[in-house]
Amino acid sequence: MQQFLDAIQSGASAAEIEHLPIPEEYRAVHVLKAEQDMWKGVPSKEKDPRQSLHVGMVPTPELAPDEVYLAVMASSINFNTVWSSIFEPVSTFGPMARLARESEWAVRHDRPYQVVGSDASGVVLRVGTAVRTWKPGDRVTVHCNHVDDQDQSAHNDSMMAANQRIWGYETNFGGLADLAVVKANQLMPKPAHLTWEEAAVNALCNSTSYRMLVGRNGAQMKQGDVVLIWGATGGIGAYATQYVLNGGGIPVCVVSSSDKADILRKMGVEHIIDRSAAGYQFWKDAHTHDEGEWRRLGKDIRDLCGEDPDIVFEHPGRSTFGASMYVVKRGGTVVTCAATSGFMMEFDNRHFWMRLKRLVGSHFANYKEAWEANRLISKGMVHPVMSRVFPLVDTVEAAYEVHHNMHEGKIGVLALAPEEGLGVTDPDLRAKVADQLSWFRR
Ligand code: NAP
Repeated sequence: MQQFLDAIQSGASAAEIEHLPIPEEYRAVHVLKAEQDMWKGVPSKEKDPRQSLHVGMVPTPELAPDEVYLAVMASSINFNTVWSSIFEPVSTFGPMARLARESEWAVRHDRPYQVVGSDASGVVLRVGTAVRTWKPGDRVTVHCNHVDDQDQSAHNDSMMAANQRIWGYETNFGGLADLAVVKANQLMPKPAHLTWEEAAVNALCNSTSYRMLVGRNGAQMKQGDVVLIWGATGGIGAYATQYVLNGGGIPVCVVSSSDKADILRKMGVEHIIDRSAAGYQFWKDAHTHDEGEWRRLGKDIRDLCGEDPDIVFEHPGRSTFGASMYVVKRGGTVVTCAATSGFMMEFDNRHFWMRLKRLVGSHFANYKEAWEANRLISKGMVHPVMSRVFPLVDTVEAAYEVHHNMHEGKIGVLALAPEEGLGVTDPDLRAKVADQLSWFRR
C-alpha cells in the first residue's frame, strides 16, 4: 500500500492513481468465524476484545460494479466493533451468511473472517464499472449504510430497506484496514479543514444523532426543547449535544465524571448531571425498578432547568430506559437507537399512555441524512469529538477502552496516514474552529 500513500501525498492525478496495481492482500482488523463461540458463558464485561480482534493480512476481494476500492487513511472505533469482538448480541457471521444468499457479488462477504470497522476517511483508488459520481483520487469519508438501491424498498427512506445493513458490522471489508471495499452510495466528500483522523470519526455517530434529533424520521427537536442526553460526551451523545445547542434547544447532559462535565462546559452546556456523584440506582435488584429513583432524576432535571424534558436521547438501554420513559414530559418523545446495558427493556406503561408519550426507534441514517450531517461538519458548524488517536496495530487496545467506558468522544485510528495532522486543504476554516477542534483532545 506504500505506493498509494506516496501517490496520495505527492498529489498524483486520477490517471496516475488508477494505474497503480491493487495489492492482492492488505492489513486489516478482523474477527474469526472459528472463534465466534469463544466467549460462551463469559459475562459481557469480561469478554476482552484484545483476544478476539486480530490485526493481519487478508486477501483483497474482487470489486463489484457499484463499489470502489478505498485507500483508508484513517478510521475510528465505534461501539459496534466492541459488539463484533464480543460476538454480542449475536455473532455477525450469521448476518453475513444471509447476505451471501442475496446475490452473486454478495457471496464474497461470507468468509472465515470479517474485516470490521464502520467509519473511514481516504482516497478512492478504483471505481466499479457502474460508478458514475466518484473517480480515483477523490478524497472522501464513508457512511455505513449498506443497501442495494435496486431494491424498491430502499427508496423513500433507505434505512427502511429490506436489505439494509451496517457496513463493517453486518458486512465484510470494513474500515479498520488499509483498504476498504464500499458501495459508491456510501461516499461523501471529506471535510477539507479536517485531518484524515478527524474526518474519519464522524460519519457513524454524527449521522445517527442527526437522524435521532434533527431529521424528519426522529424526534424532530425544535427551538426551546429540553433534551435529556445520556452519555453526553460519548460517541453519539457528543454530537447530540452539539445538535441541541445549535438548534436552539436546552440540553440537560448526563455524564459520569467531573472531567467529562468540564468538556461539556467548554462546549457551552449549562445543565449537567454527574450520574456517578448522584448515585442513581434505578434498579433495586436485577428484576425490580425503583420508581423513587426515577422521581429523583426527574426532580434533579427540574431543579436544573425548571421543566421536564421534551425529548430523551436514549441509548444505555435496560439500566436507564424505565427512568427515561418516566421523566420525559407529557406528550414528549423518547428516541432510542441502542441498548448498551441490556436490550430487554422494562417501563411502567401507565406513565406512558396516561401522559401520551411517544417512543421512536431510530437506527443510523439514510444517505440524505448522512450527507446533511456531513455538510454541517464540512461547514464547521458541527465538530469532530475526537479525544485520542491510535495506530491500526493498537486498535485492539482502543476497542478495550471503549468497551470499558475509559474514553471520551471518539477514538481515531491511523491506517495509511503515517502520522496525525495530515490531509487539511482548508487551513482558513480550520483556524476559525480551532477552539472547537480541541474540546475533546486529551
Ligand atoms: P460510547 O462512546 O461508549 O458512549 C456511550 C456513553 O453512554 C458512555 O460514555 C457513558 O457515558 C454512557 N453510558 C454507558 N452505559 C451507561 C449506563 N448504564 N447508564 C447511563 N449511561 C451509560 O458509545 P456510543 O458510540 O455513544 O454508542 C452508544 C450506544 O449506541 C452503543 O450501544 C452503540 O452500539 C449504539 N449506537 C447505535 C447506533 C445505531 O445506528 N443504532 C449508532 C451509534 C451507536 P457516561 O459514563 O459519561 O455517563
